[in-house]
Amino acid sequence: MTRYKNLLLASFLILTGWACKTDKTKSSPADAVQLVEGSHGLHLENMDSSFSPREDFFHYANGGWINSHDIPAEESSWGVFRELREGTDIKVHEILKNCSADKADKSPIEQMIGDYYAAAMDSAAIEMAGLSPIQMERDMIDGLQSKDGLAKVLAHFHRHGISGCFDFWVDLDDKNSTKMVPKLYQGGTGLPDRDYYLDDSPRRVAIRKAYVTYIETSFGLTGDDEVTAAAKAKTVMRVETALAKASMGILDRRDPDKTYHKMDLAGLEALMPNFNWQMYFSEIGLPEPGDMVVGMPDFMSALSGMIDSYSLADWKVYLHWSLLRSLAAYLPQAYVMANFEFSGKTLSGTEEIRPRWQRVVADANHALGMAIGKKYADTYFSANAKQVALDMVGNILEEMKNRLSKLEWMSPETREQAIHKVSKIMPKIGYPDKWRDYSGMKVGRESYLRNGMNATAFNFQYRLDKVGKPVDKTEWGLPPQVVNAYYNPTQNEIVFPAGILQAPFFDEHVDMALNYGGFGAVIGHELIHAFDDQGSKFDADGNLKNWWTDADRENFEARTQKVVNQYNAYKVLDSLPINGRLTLGENIADIDGLRISFAAWQHSLSRLEADPMKDGFSREQRFFINYGQIWSSKMRAEAMRMQIATNPHSPAQYRVIGSTSNLPAFYAAFGIKEGDAMYRPDSLRMQIW
Ligand SMILES: [Zn+2]
Repeated sequence: MTRYKNLLLASFLILTGWACKTDKTKSSPADAVQLVEGSHGLHLENMDSSFSPREDFFHYANGGWINSHDIPAEESSWGVFRELREGTDIKVHEILKNCSADKADKSPIEQMIGDYYAAAMDSAAIEMAGLSPIQMERDMIDGLQSKDGLAKVLAHFHRHGISGCFDFWVDLDDKNSTKMVPKLYQGGTGLPDRDYYLDDSPRRVAIRKAYVTYIETSFGLTGDDEVTAAAKAKTVMRVETALAKASMGILDRRDPDKTYHKMDLAGLEALMPNFNWQMYFSEIGLPEPGDMVVGMPDFMSALSGMIDSYSLADWKVYLHWSLLRSLAAYLPQAYVMANFEFSGKTLSGTEEIRPRWQRVVADANHALGMAIGKKYADTYFSANAKQVALDMVGNILEEMKNRLSKLEWMSPETREQAIHKVSKIMPKIGYPDKWRDYSGMKVGRESYLRNGMNATAFNFQYRLDKVGKPVDKTEWGLPPQVVNAYYNPTQNEIVFPAGILQAPFFDEHVDMALNYGGFGAVIGHELIHAFDDQGSKFDADGNLKNWWTDADRENFEARTQKVVNQYNAYKVLDSLPINGRLTLGENIADIDGLRISFAAWQHSLSRLEADPMKDGFSREQRFFINYGQIWSSKMRAEAMRMQIATNPHSPAQYRVIGSTSNLPAFYAAFGIKEGDAMYRPDSLRMQIW
């Protein structure tokens, strides 16, 4: 189903795949919780002293962990982050189980959460139901009399989280952040990105072949014979390849100016004469959409041409496939496994599918995120943690302002704007001040699939109702139980859900060197997103509006080019280079975020305070080692290839090496000298902020 739609959110990690799996060193899920809650401080056993910090800081900090952990069969990667997520998933699972248990005086929301979970876990009922829960949608497609009716089917699909042709959602207007507007974006394809359809390297050809098998298998399961299923798969590939060809590439999509095209209904109708937009908007529940933002007009125009050139029969096949693909997780096991064979095995190299409860936790976090999140925050988040975290955020924002006031490469006028932007950043920590109301969402114990679609439609309507209304600045884009963080440029806010306020990022019981090396680096990272290649194009009020002088912008770009060059030179899997352009924003956030957290922490120390030295390390060393250790991880080759092609984050190893090797404070802490592998000559080191 369609997931979080705000494409501008600059998160600390990949937003998908929250659910995790116990690793081989742990005997039971309960241990995972103890591991997180019972240990305070650096994990010395995760280090490897056979590596020198001057040669390879990543393996120095993490070699012990890497040697003692395998990637579980159910995972495409594994690491400290994933362990933390698993611990959080186990807590959420407890909440779900409690809500579903028979007990007196359940609140309506507990009833809803419990019913959602019970229906999702009832695999016997799911098998028994077969395709009957989507019979209505199947009939809708089969009953199409003309291409004009495509608009009606797609509106129904989009309301219910089913992919098709393009994406629609409601979000802040990038150039008027006081308004919520409808947004239209390219979409409707099943492979990870456009190049997967067009690139003829052996790996991509093999992926396409596996995708075709996935399509054939799924149609076969619906009752088609082999010949029919193969013919349908061919049709799907023709349509999706044409959509991919019309799509904007991943690098252009990073530029917010290139994906902003405001138009009204008449403009959209002129752009897509072959699509019945009035029918679409009235069916979706927004008969008068007003001004909207179209991400890729060229794509929409090409789609209009495709509607004309492909037959109605072709479109029906494509829609049937989109339906099966989008809802595979809710269907009987054979469909789930067909999807896993492709998405899990072929794309990510995973050997086994995650247990059902973990998949259900991830799904429930989307369907009822804030309802579950309230229970999570009530039980697992302390007021003291919130206060400590707020103090850290305050120190880091203050540090940023001080640095900006002295920033030499920037003119005083742009500097003033930058300081103004920092002073208007809104931090959100732990959980929202007010909670969403879920009453009215239809959830029962009869059908997991209908529950999922109802939840998506309910959440869709919730956004739709905001069009034309004042923006609610108290809202959160992620629920509290998620181990992640984000910067949202259109609201100029940094958001840290309770999930990331856990060890090794954050621990009330350890010294602040570790907290600044962990959570502080996350705060710095999100703050710097406000000033990276994308965020820097938004002003203090969250509007896409230039506040730079031309000379300052040129200077900024010259500095960012150093970062592009640095990361372009890193290779994974022996020969696969990181894409320095694609990862630029994240790399800037990593480097300067770490720099600013370090400086803020140093300034928070009293000058009289002696360094207590712990575990044989100075506090500066401990700061950097903890930063290194939040990235303890390994990843399967297939998943790594996909990450390099589609993910704006650099692989963990280079998030450590790439950022530390730019910081003089790191050089001082470990005595890095010219000739060391971690050494970068001054002329190549990057410092923007
Ligand atoms: Zn980020």
